[in-house]
Amino acid sequence: MPSPEKTTGQAPYRGLFIDGVETSPEGRETLAILSPRDGKIIAHTVHAEASDVDAAVASAQRAFKGSDWGKMPDRTRAKLVYKLGDAVEQHLTELYELETLNNGRPTRETRAQLSKLPDMFRYNASLAMAKRDAVIPVEGDYLAYTLRKPVGVVANISPFNHPLLIASRNLAPTFASGCTTVVKPSEYTPLTLIRLWEIFRDAGLPPGVFNIVTGLGATTGAALVGHPGVNKLVLTGGTESGRAAGAAAARNFAHQTLELGGKTPVLVFDDFDIDQAVDYAAFGAFIGAGQTCVCASRHIVQRSIYDEFVAKLAAKAKGIRVGDPFEKNTQMGPVISELQRQRVLDFVKIGQSEGARLVAGGAVPANLKDTGGFYLEPTVFADVTPQMRIAREEVFGPFTVVLPFDSEEEAVRIANDSPYGLAAALRTKDVTRAHRLADALEAGVVWVNDHHRADIAFPWGGVKDSGVAREGGLESFDYYFHTKAVMVNKSADRFDWFETEMRDLRMN
Ligand code: NAD
Repeated sequence: MPSPEKTTGQAPYRGLFIDGVETSPEGRETLAILSPRDGKIIAHTVHAEASDVDAAVASAQRAFKGSDWGKMPDRTRAKLVYKLGDAVEQHLTELYELETLNNGRPTRETRAQLSKLPDMFRYNASLAMAKRDAVIPVEGDYLAYTLRKPVGVVANISPFNHPLLIASRNLAPTFASGCTTVVKPSEYTPLTLIRLWEIFRDAGLPPGVFNIVTGLGATTGAALVGHPGVNKLVLTGGTESGRAAGAAAARNFAHQTLELGGKTPVLVFDDFDIDQAVDYAAFGAFIGAGQTCVCASRHIVQRSIYDEFVAKLAAKAKGIRVGDPFEKNTQMGPVISELQRQRVLDFVKIGQSEGARLVAGGAVPANLKDTGGFYLEPTVFADVTPQMRIAREEVFGPFTVVLPFDSEEEAVRIANDSPYGLAAALRTKDVTRAHRLADALEAGVVWVNDHHRADIAFPWGGVKDSGVAREGGLESFDYYFHTKAVMVNKSADRFDWFETEMRDLRMN
């Protein structure tokens, strides 16, 4: 992770974003931001201290209660959120190019991914327009109804792999619901979020609604998630980060949405076209250089097609063009950091020492060794058994394993034998099996004959150690409210519990 240092003054220096103003407080440490394509410093950010977090939370609290946001009519706010979607759309090219520079994903990927953002804001604005409360039939002469109230200040902690998409998945319902937020972007990839903050400020988002504190997870992040002024935590990141942050937020009884790690199983049956299965395997495993929470990291393949699948996937992986993410022909960019690259290379050694067969990759590409970037070859291990570490632990790089199975029951058993439960996928032409397995797989998301597909309306999230609650769709919008229940007595009859006759009255 970036090490705190004094600013060098050689690259742009970005400050804190609190109350509608960018500030660079005196005496703060800074963090160097590198581009993974060549390892060069592209910016410095402030390493925010606890007092900065206090200021950001206080700003978000003021905005939440204030007339410019908290008391703004819902319809007016919804129209403003819709305009934020338009503002994102006007800046898409700039945003996806900056995303590529900062996280190393090829522009083909960042362009495809960020093109979803404008509708994310419009969708949530529409939900705000269409928001309804409920009248609840109750016993007796009463009118019972709900008032869904925004929860308040949201701490939004985002990861490096989809910096803008994931932060926005939460910013959109935060704004549409009337909440306010303090965002702590990944210490590796804060730049697009900072740019988004400027775009939203210029589009008329009132000061204090959207604040950013930059810094490390263990310091700035921990100060934010444990802050008593935070009413809801949304964190996307590794399972251990989620466990620590979730525990801290729980001390203040904050609501939580945690989107954490995974080890996605992919069940491949012999009734499915094998070449298409291999194409999906490469798509599932290697986009984002394998740094996606749902990347296809365990291929569980029917034994009748196992050897052919392994040979074809190895050939496909070897053919993927790795290189500079700004080059038009590049199909896979670098991983985020030297640390992450070393972690993947360590898992290559672990796989070999466990007796698995390396059939593709496993090294730094020879032609990219001197670029300064953090490149790796797409890596495939075969002859893997379910107990091996490479079949159980999240690697988070261009690294996938292939295991054989003999029966459907065995395939499901292997798939579900994991602490994770984020996503699962299957490849079959048998429609009854597809539905049976969609039900049986322990995961928050299941893909039948596809991978990575999501939608602004599609609920997203995991079970088991992959997290709690959902992002996207109606579910996510609803998580930004608490329900106030109102009971109105419609009867004019007098009520006196302490009457002298002591009749059997209804008490509650
Ligand atoms: P990470 O856990 O290292 O960091 C994520 C964020 O949490 C960063 O902003 C970090 O600074 C912050 N953080 C870390 N410890 C913290 C603490 N104690 N308190 C507060 N904040 C803290 O994860 P990463 O390396 O950026 O991202 C990769 C991980 O994210 C993988 O495990 C991946 O599976 C997961 N992920 C999950 C989803 C999902 O939808 N479930 C999506 C993307 C990534």
